[in-house]
Amino acid sequence: MSDTIYRNTWVEVDLEAIEYNLQQIKKRISNKTKIIAVVKADGYGHGSVQVAKRAIKAGASALAVALFEEALTLREAEITVPILVLGWVPAKAAPIAAVNNITLTFFQKEWLQEVSTYQLEDKLHVHMKWDTGMGRIGVRTKSELKELLYALNENPSIYLTGVFTHFATADEADMSYFYEQKSRFEEMLKTFTEVWGKPVDVHIGNSASAIRLPEEMYDYIRFGIAMYGLYPSGTVKSERDVELKQAFSLHSRLAHVKKIAAGETVSYGATYKAEKDEWIGTIPIGYGDGWIRKLQGVDVLVNGKRMPIVGRICMDQTMIRLDGEYPIDTKVTLIGKQNSAEIEMDEIAAHAETINYEIPCIINQRVPRLYK
Ligand code: PLP
Repeated sequence: MSDTIYRNTWVEVDLEAIEYNLQQIKKRISNKTKIIAVVKADGYGHGSVQVAKRAIKAGASALAVALFEEALTLREAEITVPILVLGWVPAKAAPIAAVNNITLTFFQKEWLQEVSTYQLEDKLHVHMKWDTGMGRIGVRTKSELKELLYALNENPSIYLTGVFTHFATADEADMSYFYEQKSRFEEMLKTFTEVWGKPVDVHIGNSASAIRLPEEMYDYIRFGIAMYGLYPSGTVKSERDVELKQAFSLHSRLAHVKKIAAGETVSYGATYKAEKDEWIGTIPIGYGDGWIRKLQGVDVLVNGKRMPIVGRICMDQTMIRLDGEYPIDTKVTLIGKQNSAEIEMDEIAAHAETINYEIPCIINQRVPRLYK
């Protein structure tokens, strides 16, 4: 396939914004705390390799992903910093992980037993996950913890380099459950230190925790959403103490412009009927790109002005009501800035009744990412 891009719809990723956001958090956290840049799900839809490279340049010491394949993609791009896979990985990946210096997360005795049956050419680095209240993956009790540590002692080719947990409510206004989790973590850490004795890296905080409690972040923060310039929660005001720049913007161009008469309709179901003579523009983006049907009615920017999406969003095309005639090829911004106007990710997320995290992730690979 040719590399030429014919379609007039694209995402722009502002890598300077990524760098800027990392600088903001660096100023806030203790100088003993380092940064793991979280680039899972293809860098929250921004492009994992490009974001990872810029994050490292901006001072991130390590990377985290969710899947083993995502870690391999980073190694194939010749990225050499430590990479932690946050999710469960089948034990059979251990030999490849060891060769590629990819740190795996573990929390099951059976997993350790299976790994110990493989011939590992290099030491396998692992971090142990503790479930202190997220209810997803991880060791839950001190007896499980001790059992795992004893099993680890039997396996010299498996090298424990870290322990971590994840908070369920770090982005909520009410911090009580957060502190409950944190004290469970501290209890586990006490037992761990007594039994294990050797030092390991400790990390507990995502973006929300790092912004709100920067001094309590142990050795690393796992910095995801805020690195991309998005606030973890739309409502917690203290998060706004850090100024962030949104890195992701989404654009298209008018493919067709026409005047329709009062009473004429637009798109499937003929649900939108013009009240008077109206200018309608068509842009080449639709739910086949991840621009979901629920976004019907949201505004886009044309010539620095807001104009609404009208009629149902189709698989590949979306119609907008223009305030006049515009030439074909006029730029349309669906997320991001035009002149002094802006459509924030949060606005799109609210319209779709979801969180800002989900929007860049669902704009799929059909939409090319351009980097600046
Ligand atoms: N750590 C873990 C275990 C995660 O699952 C995530 C993301 O979901 C993060 C860190 C990054 O969180 P955030 O994007 O809120 O900074």
